[in-house]
Amino acid sequence: MNEHDSERIAGVLEGEGYASAERASDAEVVVLNTCAVRENADNRLYGELGHLKPLKDENPRLRIVVAGCLAQKDRGRIQERAPWVDVVVGTSALPGLIELIRSAEREGPQMDVREYTEVFPSALPARRRSRHSAWVSVSVGCDNRCTFCIVPLVRGPQRSRRLGDVVAEVQGLAERGVIEVTLLGQNVNTYGRDLTVPGSSRKPRFAALLRAVNQVEGIRRVRFISPHPHDFTDDVVAAMAECEAVCEHIHFPLQSGSDRVLRLMRRSYRSARYLDWLERIRRAIPGVSVTTDIIVGFPGESEEDFAQTLRVTEQARFDAAFTFQYSPRPGTAAASHPDQVPKPVVQQRFERLLALQERISLERNAEYVGRTVEVVVEGEGRKGNVAARTRTNKLVHLPGRLPPGTLAQVRITSSAPHHLSGRVVAA
Ligand code: SF4
Repeated sequence: MNEHDSERIAGVLEGEGYASAERASDAEVVVLNTCAVRENADNRLYGELGHLKPLKDENPRLRIVVAGCLAQKDRGRIQERAPWVDVVVGTSALPGLIELIRSAEREGPQMDVREYTEVFPSALPARRRSRHSAWVSVSVGCDNRCTFCIVPLVRGPQRSRRLGDVVAEVQGLAERGVIEVTLLGQNVNTYGRDLTVPGSSRKPRFAALLRAVNQVEGIRRVRFISPHPHDFTDDVVAAMAECEAVCEHIHFPLQSGSDRVLRLMRRSYRSARYLDWLERIRRAIPGVSVTTDIIVGFPGESEEDFAQTLRVTEQARFDAAFTFQYSPRPGTAAASHPDQVPKPVVQQRFERLLALQERISLERNAEYVGRTVEVVVEGEGRKGNVAARTRTNKLVHLPGRLPPGTLAQVRITSSAPHHLSGRVVAA
């Protein structure tokens, strides 16, 4: 979502005639787009701002903008710690970015971190990095309160975009040659809960959105991130199974295998229900790949809790897992939990989980060897190879050259934990 915000910032600036510069020293405006989800971003922001200060001293006409949800969370603190920043702009105030830059030129530092609800940020122009693949926001904000998560504090309650607006954007993208879209929302399953259908008491549902996007001519692949296991419903599984363009991949965040920790995290499902869902998804969608997020070292996590996470990981047989060491985010409930797990313990558990998942990922990927699968070329890969993606979201290295966006049938010749290798059978 943060990367898509960057595309919109670039789109807004380009709409005003700005072009991107190679180096900050050549720029008239430098924008740092921040994300508050992990602790590291805080440190990096102030480091980057420190590097920009001499440029600003040399060239007072340089405008420095800090955008994104960290800007929203830290508000006045940024201009206090780095008074050379000209503009602080929150995620939903981006439509006013140009005006803020102009006001900063006339009147000095500006800040707008208010929550605007009338303009959905996706309505802004975006400079997309890829010509064949695009992100499309379907909702922003989240109504859940997971105790580790800063998102509801910085992105506010869920606001869904009208179904017709999402479909219109996808149609426009398809007309420009996009063949793959990824629908974005903090919790896509609850899409539409805050909307009404004119003349009806029904609310649009995520499954209906998937079916509508599936029908857009020219769109060959539809992906979405992220669903919350609690709100995952049968109609979404049915839509995934029946819609030809909807890819056989689901990112299904587990976070912990321990029911006690899930309760502490305020995640409303339990591990048995989670595994049951996985089984239903796999039964309905043959060959589906499943990836997940897992947090290690959540406050209060005991060795037995962690052993449960290992057990569930073994049973779930994820294709890949994004594993995180817990980092407290000020303002969240978990940050003030008295029972923080010591860093060396977290590190050691993290390495054990990583080793287990590496083995499982390798086993899952080995199942592909000898099979012929469809890929879309993404661009240049390592060592002169081409990087491509299967419908199941596996990275495939291919020898030779093929333009990004090419659809090809490839035969998989070998596998590793994080990628496959293959050769083109037909393109
Ligand atoms: S559902 Fe996702 S975005 Fe919402 S609070 Fe939980 S972790 Fe954060």
